[in-house]
Formats: sequence, C-alpha cells, structure tokens
Amino acid sequence: MPEELLNRYLQETDILHNVAYDENKKDDGFIGSGMDCAVIPLARHKNYFLVQTVDFFYPLVNDPKIMGKIALSNVLSDIYAVGVTTFDKLNMIVSVSTEFSELEQDVIVPQIVEGFLESAKEAGIRVHVQSISYNPWCIIGGIASSLCTEAEIIMPSNAKDGDAIVLTKPLGTQLATNAYLWMEEKNDKYIKISARLSDDDIKKTFNMAVKSMTFLNKIAAQLMHKYNAHAATDVTGFGILGHAKNLARFQKDKISFALNKLPIITNVVTIGEILGQDIKLKSGRAVETSGGLLICLSADKAKAFCDDFFTLSNKEQQAWVIGSVKSAEDRDAYLQHNVEIFEIDQ
Ligand code: MG
Repeated sequence: MPEELLNRYLQETDILHNVAYDENKKDDGFIGSGMDCAVIPLARHKNYFLVQTVDFFYPLVNDPKIMGKIALSNVLSDIYAVGVTTFDKLNMIVSVSTEFSELEQDVIVPQIVEGFLESAKEAGIRVHVQSISYNPWCIIGGIASSLCTEAEIIMPSNAKDGDAIVLTKPLGTQLATNAYLWMEEKNDKYIKISARLSDDDIKKTFNMAVKSMTFLNKIAAQLMHKYNAHAATDVTGFGILGHAKNLARFQKDKISFALNKLPIITNVVTIGEILGQDIKLKSGRAVETSGGLLICLSADKAKAFCDDFFTLSNKEQQAWVIGSVKSAEDRDAYLQHNVEIFEIDQ
C-alpha cells in the first residue's frame, strides 16, 4: 500500500499520533502502531516485553522456494530492527491461490513451505503452521513473537546529533526482480532493456537481489548491540526515504536524517533509466522487499560496524555509511542534493 494512503487510513483511525514520539510517554517502553513491530510491556511480568510482528507477501519471484525464503527473511526483519535476535514462536501463514490447479498446488505449496522452513532453521527458529487456507491470491507470511528482557531490545528512538546512518543491504530489489520476470516473458519492457543489457546482466542483477532479500538481518541486529546502536528500522515497502522519515518522526531528540549515498544493485539504475522509472529509485522512494536495516549509531563506530558486518557475513554482504543525523526542529529525513548513487556488483 502506498505510504500516503496508509498514513491517511491511520490518521482517520487516530492511530498515527502514536507514531510520533510522545513527550508524555517518554519512558514507558511501549511501541504501538507505526514502527516495525509491537513492543508490549507485560502487565503481570514487569521485567518482560512481548515483541511481535505479523507480515505476509505475494509472490514476486517465480521460484516458490526462493519466495518462501524471502518471506521468512522479511517477517523476521521487523523484529531484528529492534535488536532482538531470538524468537519464541513463529507461526507460518500460507494461502493457496484458488486459481492454482491441483498439480500447481502440489508442486508450489510444498516448495514455498520448504524455503520458509529452511531459512527459519538458519535463523534458529522452529516454525508452527498457523493456517493454510484458500484465497484468490497466493500469500506467504508469518507471525513472529519473542518474549524479551529490556536489555535485549534496542528501542528505535534514541538517534543523536552527529550519529552516522548505516544501511546493510543494497537498494533496487523491485526493478531487479521485475526485469527477470520480463525477460522470462520476453515482453516489451524486456526488448527495450535488452538493447543495453544482456540476459546474463539481467540474471546477475536478479541473483544479487535474491541473495540480498533472502539474507537474514540477524547479523545486523547482533551488531546493533555490539556497537550500541541508537535506533533502527528495516527498509521495505515505503522505500529507504519513507522508512527514514518514519524513523525520524519516532526520535526523542529533535533531529533529522540526511542521506548522502544510495547503494543500488548493479544494472538497476540502467534498467530504471531505460524504462523511465529511475526517478523513484534515485529519490529513495523505490519499493523494496526484505531490505536491510537502516541503523543510527555513533559516527566513530560506523566503520567498525561495516567491517565487522562484512566479515561475519563471510564477505557475502556489505554495509555502508549512507548519511548522518543532524539537529533539526522537524524530525524528518531527506536526500542531500549531491546524493551519490553507486552500483553494488558483488
Ligand atoms: Mg518494518
């Protein structure tokens, strides 16, 4: 759902005011609607919080197993965003499309579930099947829950003037996955793209997007504790700028986020330019799926964080310093006018 529309619905139900940081509720340790997951103090167990999220997705790649892996990674991402890395329960939600033939059901559904379970195992989580239902749309998702002490949670509200902003996955997943589907369909968009990019280029771009979307944000969450991060969110449907704005609104201090770099998966800028779809991408508004964490931490720790992240991911994934936190009245986020767009090709 577009960010503006979601905000309008929330406004109309009077939920949105909970998104902005409330001066009067400074220390109640509660997150309701608006941020990535719920953080709920337990009334009868004072030292514990229930950290919980629910999310589900429609297929965006043709490979059901990969789709299961992307969905798992994306469901957990909202919990990783508050620094929580252990889970007590993960319920899987699957809806089988009523348009699938019996054969399609028999082939597709087990593969989706297999991908989901395989990645859950990697994350160290046992999965409960919540429900498998019929629906016009194929849906895969889950409900992730963790019972935590306060020390396990990094509330996303403590960014400070002078902090660095780090991003742990490259941008451009939507065009990267779409281009691959267009190539398989051999449609008009593919014909335009293929004038400048080879099929191997498109495959390479797609494979990078898949590697990124299936990569768990767990290492990033663990390093948030090691480097004493002040706030974080995960980058998904609102694009990096939308999520940065959302996080900025939630800060205790009067600060803004200035983004000066956008790391984008190789060839995605070219694909965007060919199709006239580069404006959103270059303005930080392109929709992402299972994106990285956007993390605020002390500037003097940012390089060590990025180096550590690269090492712990077996040099498979990079993190970059992409901006800084500055004192400001408006609690907003923006791209600097000289924002540097750079291609990531490994
Ligand atoms: Mg989120």
